[in-house]
Amino acid sequence: MNEARIAVVTGANRGIGSAIARELARTGMRVACIALHLDLAQEFAAELDGGSVGFECDVSDPAAVKECYAAVVESMGVPLVLVNNAGVTRDGLLIRMSDEDWEAVLNVNLKGAFHWCRACASGMMKARYGRIVNIGSVVGLSGSAGQANYAASKAGLIGMSKAIAKELGGRGVTCNVVAPGFIETLMTQELPEQARAAALAQTPLGRFGSPEDVAATVGFLVGEASGYVTGQVVAVDGGMAL
Ligand code: NAD
Repeated sequence: MNEARIAVVTGANRGIGSAIARELARTGMRVACIALHLDLAQEFAAELDGGSVGFECDVSDPAAVKECYAAVVESMGVPLVLVNNAGVTRDGLLIRMSDEDWEAVLNVNLKGAFHWCRACASGMMKARYGRIVNIGSVVGLSGSAGQANYAASKAGLIGMSKAIAKELGGRGVTCNVVAPGFIETLMTQELPEQARAAALAQTPLGRFGSPEDVAATVGFLVGEASGYVTGQVVAVDGGMAL
């Protein structure tokens, strides 16, 4: 299906998102690379072969997502693949967590994914085909001290994805969650050495993951071979959540 070759990836300019965008481009998709700033989005999209395009969009802003979706459709066509990868952390202990830190994380991680799922759903339903992958976290399964906001956002993604899988399954749309463990990116680089050592000790495979480890699983879930997989949470975590 031709339109299946157009994929939206949010937070595409770095880290796990950039590895996902590269993987999808490698398999022949044209990627709408969504970033917070246009120059970053365009710079990154230009690195990909085959007609990928950069767009600026703050995923937490419903009007911006609506506008950005329309711009993607106009310049590229209807996207039938969506990867909600944009995410932030604002860690802190529960008793000290501000309303702002709670809302900022929920607004990007959970509402941002909701905004993009809602925007893309009609086009996918009309095409009777779609692949949605939401990037969660093992923390959404197990919880994590100091991350009540982040864990809630990632657990929320699981519930939302299962609901979407049930709602849109009859139209040929699948929706799954990929839950990474500890992946080497800017998000994890700033953690104290003690926290990194503790994470490694909890990882049976004995190494941190790479963005490419996550991208390979996303590639499977947006491809043809996974057409009968929906509503699932696939941990890419070296066994951390076991
Ligand atoms: P990162 O900080 O390197 O990248 C996050 C991306 O999201 C950046 O491109 C950033 O600009 C973008 N972004 C942030 N807020 C945005 C907004 N409002 N609108 C649009 N884009 C926005 O982080 P990463 O490690 O590559 O994480 C990618 C995803 O994987 C996140 O959802 C994160 O929660 C998840 N994850 C990461 C790890 C890990 O160990 N790195 C583990 C589990 C889950």
